[in-house]
Amino acid sequence: MMTSKVKILISEQQIQNRIQALGAELSEDYQDKEPVLVSILRGSFLFLADLTRALTVPHEVDFMAVSSYGNAQESTGVVRLLQDLSSDVSGRHVLVVEDIVDTGLTWQYIRANLMTRRPASLKIVTLLNKEGRRRVDVQVDYTGFVVDDAFVVGYGLDYQQKLRNLPYIGVLQE
Ligand code: IMP
Repeated sequence: MMTSKVKILISEQQIQNRIQALGAELSEDYQDKEPVLVSILRGSFLFLADLTRALTVPHEVDFMAVSSYGNAQESTGVVRLLQDLSSDVSGRHVLVVEDIVDTGLTWQYIRANLMTRRPASLKIVTLLNKEGRRRVDVQVDYTGFVVDDAFVVGYGLDYQQKLRNLPYIGVLQE
């Protein structure tokens, strides 16, 4: 599989420009709220790293790991919590940071899980949004890019745990 080619879909520059804009928008919306950014591992680690530096308001970062696919390319619909947050988010403004919302099953699970902790608010920012693939009706608050139904890799997103390091978003060419 490492011989398959990757076609660039969203360039490094496009990603960086969009994150600067998202950072400005979020800094406005979260002024005086001291949000906790909850990065969903592993796919969102690069997005979190750039987004946190694009924010001009005080905030904290925390991490949560979930597994939904195993090594498959399709959602099984079963989401497991692999690693929980370190901090207590009750009464806090929580902003979940995701790499991609596809079927919506993962976000639905995370949303329900975090709501039990009674945050002051709970929203999501996702770099990529495959709007056309939803299997559940979940609201997405902030989107970097809407993408079509193709399997994408790079900038945190993997194919069988590889290719996360690409600085751009690409589509695998078999
Ligand atoms: P959902 O539960 O179907 O919304 O999927 C969410 C998770 O599936 C994401 O956090 C990704 O880890 C993974 N995923 C969905 N689509 C893709 C893709 O095109 N490439 C790589 N991973 C994906």
